Amino acid sequence: VRGCWNGASVREMGPFLLDLVMNAVVFDQIGKTFDGKRAVLDQFSLEIAPGEHLVIVGPSGSGKSTLLRLLAGLEQPTSGRLLLRGRDAAGIPPRERELAMMFEEPALLPGTSVRHNLRLGASLHAGINSARLFWDRWSNSSQDLRAENAVIERSVAEAAETLGLEHLLDRRVDELSAGERQRTALGRAIVRGADLLLLDEPTGKLDPPRRAELRDYLRRLIADRGMTLVHVTHDHAEAMALATRLAVVDEGRLLQVGPPEEVYDSPSARFVAEFIGDPP
Ligand code: ADP
Ligand code: MG
Repeated sequence: VRGCWNGASVREMGPFLLDLVMNAVVFDQIGKTFDGKRAVLDQFSLEIAPGEHLVIVGPSGSGKSTLLRLLAGLEQPTSGRLLLRGRDAAGIPPRERELAMMFEEPALLPGTSVRHNLRLGASLHAGINSARLFWDRWSNSSQDLRAENAVIERSVAEAAETLGLEHLLDRRVDELSAGERQRTALGRAIVRGADLLLLDEPTGKLDPPRRAELRDYLRRLIADRGMTLVHVTHDHAEAMALATRLAVVDEGRLLQVGPPEEVYDSPSARFVAEFIGDPP
């Protein structure tokens, strides 16, 4: 080990190795300000393990979406360090972060079918995984292309099955209900091979039965695929039902994080008690 790690001992390397093996995401003392104004995030530290379903709750403007945008690479931290799968995210461009982000309004390709949207995700996955994409495309024999298409079709079919989209594959996305659109966006994330899914109030536009339905599909994604989810929501029931851990933020700071029952039963601050105990 000494030889491998530039003379550092195992003890010295311990925390680093733990990050590498244990955490999908590490927010390490992250600070974020826009245009020198008041800090939107302040010394924000949180570790997220692979396969966790971390739910973030907090008032409007507390910095929840900013946390997700930092993860997606749409914003850069002003201070502190962000690690993705053990690597400093500063060196990873957004396209290479192997994650998918879902908003209240999913962005699907209008005028095209569900199948087409899922296929696009699968082709994108092939593109990200192979730096030789252009060469491959150019030099592929038709047999290779057929094999690639078969792989894409299989992953599209699997995603459709997980998300109950089989009967909708040939439907145009413009004709889908809000819940079906969200499931299509989820499907695209899956076929892209993302193992980290960022959800920003994904059920905000859904009625209660559709919320419950999407909740079940999200649960299945964790069980079947071992995905890591970082999920911002205003829906109290959704947070309690899905979170392996619940994080409460206010004014850019992490007030408490723990299993939802623990946060509920022993809130660390008056704010947490009021926010959690009195769902909006
Ligand atoms: P939340 O998702 O918890 O409602 P946000 O992360 O969207 O909060 O925003 C936190 C704060 O940061 C808000 O005060 C918001 O106005 C501010 N903010 C977010 N993005 C920008 C930006 N691009 N420029 C300036 N201020 C921003
Ligand atoms: Mg937000």
